[in-house]
Amino acid sequence: MNYISTRGNAPILSFEEAMLTGLARDGGLYLPATIPQMSHADIAALEGVSYEEAAFRIMWPFLGDTFTEDEFRDIIARSYAGFGHPARAPLKQLDQGHFLLELFHGPTLAFKDFAMQLIGQMFEASLKRSGKRVCIVGATSGDTGSAAIEAFRGLDAVDVFILYPHGRVSEVQRRQMTTPVESNVHALAITGYFDDAQARVKDMFNDFAFRDGVGLAGVNSINWARVLAQVVYFFTSAVALGAPHRKVSFTVPTGNFGDVFAGYIARRMGLPIDRLVVATNQNDILHRCLTTRDYRPDGVSPTISPSMDIQVSSNFERALYYAYDQDGRAVAQLMAELKAGGFSVSQGALESLRETFSSGRASEAETTATIARLSDTTGELLCPHSAVGVKVAEEARQTGTPMITLATAHPAKFPAAVKQATGIHPPLPERMADLYDRDERVTRVDNDLVAIETLIKERVPQ
Ligand SMILES: *Cc1c(COP(=O)(O)O)cnc(C)c1O
Repeated sequence: MNYISTRGNAPILSFEEAMLTGLARDGGLYLPATIPQMSHADIAALEGVSYEEAAFRIMWPFLGDTFTEDEFRDIIARSYAGFGHPARAPLKQLDQGHFLLELFHGPTLAFKDFAMQLIGQMFEASLKRSGKRVCIVGATSGDTGSAAIEAFRGLDAVDVFILYPHGRVSEVQRRQMTTPVESNVHALAITGYFDDAQARVKDMFNDFAFRDGVGLAGVNSINWARVLAQVVYFFTSAVALGAPHRKVSFTVPTGNFGDVFAGYIARRMGLPIDRLVVATNQNDILHRCLTTRDYRPDGVSPTISPSMDIQVSSNFERALYYAYDQDGRAVAQLMAELKAGGFSVSQGALESLRETFSSGRASEAETTATIARLSDTTGELLCPHSAVGVKVAEEARQTGTPMITLATAHPAKFPAAVKQATGIHPPLPERMADLYDRDERVTRVDNDLVAIETLIKERVPQ
């Protein structure tokens, strides 16, 4: 299986190389050159199998000869063993025809564990074989960083540096990043917003001398392997509700477009998805783009769903690549325009996007009201991101087609917002109840490329 860049001007890589690299050298994102298909019978055969078995069947065709079948089954088993629920991604009914896919039973209580745990195990297997070392650098609005640190802490061949916006992540998120004691874990609190952290990470990848010098590897949601891991639960949940014999729709609380793009891949593989609904908070650039064609960042405003406080939605580039009929030059042109302020997608590309994607947004007041209402009517405590999804899903639902809303984090990860809406303080699961008592370790750093690179060079064993 070959992997190609969305901008059409980077080396073609294998799955393993694309996973270890992250961002392509032309600034683009890697995608499989062809998308493996799951037939009606393949999908029907997923009914009743374990999450791990489904994960194996769905992901295997994308891997080429990276691992043997036994190695990959082993990697999957280790990735999900630490989850606090035997179904891994259980489905709960909220209302007639409306279901919640609980993706928060992993070690850091957010859906990012599904991908990050798998990536950690795949990196370890791959690096052990080659004897190489890598330096993982990632930007986070909170959940990617904690999931990455949890997945890589204590591994021999990896240093992990996570940049998060100082003062703009929840206390649980911060503590999950700053309390691990392993010396290969480095939490960096950067001045600014998530987009600043993400921009500095991109700068580091584009600084080839630095990139090669420290052996930079990226595990942000631009990493193809992460998207792939997320494809699995679109299949398992749709099959639980009757696919491939009936269509289902999904609503996905969205920031960087990685999770909802995984749904798009599932659809292209053959899963009968009717609509993929992009749910945003008041940072609604994706909703604006899908309704007005204009993609123009206009500043981030902090919300109670901070993991979605994003204006430059990296993975949207992958959707644009398909909307522009896999024309890398057209995508490169749009991204150049974005650097200069923004772009408008063509009418044809917009129509192509709208064949699959719908969108909606939830204001802060609507999000809080949804948390309160669902607690009253169903007893379900929603984290604010999931509440954005539920609110948008309720508006987008169509009778006759089940709607699955992705619950992206556990309510205890965002206790302040949940308490404010419901009066209930959501408790942390037993296994992490001492989080608030552990010592924190963090380095403050300016939003400055040279300062960040210098710090990393000092910390990485030469
Ligand atoms: C990361 C995150 C999102 C957004 O996911 P994307 O893949 O970036 O669109 C939504 N909710 C939570 C809780 C998250 O951690």
